[in-house]
Amino acid sequence: MIDLHCHSYYSDGTLSPELLIQRAISAQVQYLALTDHDTTVGLAPLHAAALEHDVKIINGLELSVLWKKHTIHIIGLMIDPHNETLNNLLILQNDSRIERAKLIGSLLSKVGIKDAYLKACDIAGHERVGRAHFAKILMDEGKADTMQVAFKRYLGVGKLAYVATSWVTLGLAVEAIVCAGGQAVIAHPLKYKLTRSKLHELIGVFKGSGGVGMEVVSGDIDDAKINELAILCKKFDLLASTGSDFHDDKMSRVKIGCQKKLPLICKPIWFDWPERPVV
Ligand code: MN
Ligand code: MN
Ligand code: MN
Repeated sequence: MIDLHCHSYYSDGTLSPELLIQRAISAQVQYLALTDHDTTVGLAPLHAAALEHDVKIINGLELSVLWKKHTIHIIGLMIDPHNETLNNLLILQNDSRIERAKLIGSLLSKVGIKDAYLKACDIAGHERVGRAHFAKILMDEGKADTMQVAFKRYLGVGKLAYVATSWVTLGLAVEAIVCAGGQAVIAHPLKYKLTRSKLHELIGVFKGSGGVGMEVVSGDIDDAKINELAILCKKFDLLASTGSDFHDDKMSRVKIGCQKKLPLICKPIWFDWPERPVV
């Protein structure tokens, strides 16, 4: 198995690199990419944890980017985490993330949640907190039963604690990934609720900036959507990626390495990697 999308406790997942490796081994994952949100700090510890094991680690990340008022997620695979252009972009992203988190925190005080930003940092163990951390606080304090409800009532687009964030642009993000020697991949393309023509337009701009792939299989996606994406992927001559988007046992329906298979019509993203997984 190959899993090119998952998160650790260095972003909004809850597992340590050691536990991610254990999970990967028990699911017989040969290739694992860690794709934490807007950070590469988990990569070195993940490599260290994988040293004695038969799992190949792919350096990755998941960037939040802005395209025409839409927030889109772009995965970078096979990146050099020491690349200066990429790291400069990550500094900007980190500032935006922290600014957003503080604003979300102050908006949540209006529904009676005190010090939400500090609580979120406490849950995360770092300051790069995301909406998933705030969702946990909302659940802990009895404002929502589930993560989905927390987003629907408070954190989602247009809701009380939604903050439009000045993420880097799609073009800059793709260029930084390419500059760092990586492959840029559109994450979960059907999750942005774009019209068909907008999605085609997004893919056009993405390819124009140097993007080469899209996720055809992601998380708990159903077969109809996999087929739809496989056709789209082929139509635009993109490489296909696959990942569980695993965060933790509560948040994620699909475990590491347990996502569905890529359809055979797809040309996989690892097509021209020097070492390729056997699938
Ligand atoms: Mn996440
Ligand atoms: Mn995502
Ligand atoms: Mn993700």
